[in-house]
Amino acid sequence: SDRIIKTVDAPQGLEGQGFFAGKLDDLVGLARANSLWPLPFATSCCGIEFMATMASHYDLARFGAERLSFSARQADVLMVMGTIAKKMAPVVKQVYLQMAEPRWVIAVGACASSGGVFDTYSVLQGIDRIIPVDVYVPGCPPRPEQILDGFMEIQELAKSEQRRRRESPEYKALLSSYGIE
Ligand code: SF4
Repeated sequence: SDRIIKTVDAPQGLEGQGFFAGKLDDLVGLARANSLWPLPFATSCCGIEFMATMASHYDLARFGAERLSFSARQADVLMVMGTIAKKMAPVVKQVYLQMAEPRWVIAVGACASSGGVFDTYSVLQGIDRIIPVDVYVPGCPPRPEQILDGFMEIQELAKSEQRRRRESPEYKALLSSYGIE
């Protein structure tokens, strides 16, 4: 019918003028993906790009993520940006452990992903040495568009969180490999 409208990102199911119906899991996933609260853990230059990502031109708020959470208990996405010294590593892990499931992690930029140019004794060679990472954003620094792209990857994961995470033996095994129960 020409009265049927398309709803952007609507879960599969019935759609009509002014309504859609679908599985509860899909609806919860849609709501969750569009209300993620990031925790920015910024130590150096990549953090400056995050400021641009939050500002009006790139406007992360469009994705429902304008509410930054500096309380780990209320955060959904840990965004690690910058060089992580080995002395800082236990703090990053502690913040991750304080986050409730479902939680996601983005390594923003080369330093967080691999140590970047700082191949030296004092720098952690990637945060995945201490916590699981869901999305790696390349660049030194990455542009705000890349950070947005990484965030959108997390949104895709969030839509199917229930199937991917707590019920999954693979996820439990992954946590266990980091010594996390
Ligand atoms: Fe700075 Fe480059 Fe490291 Fe980002 S990846 S924190 S821009 S040195």
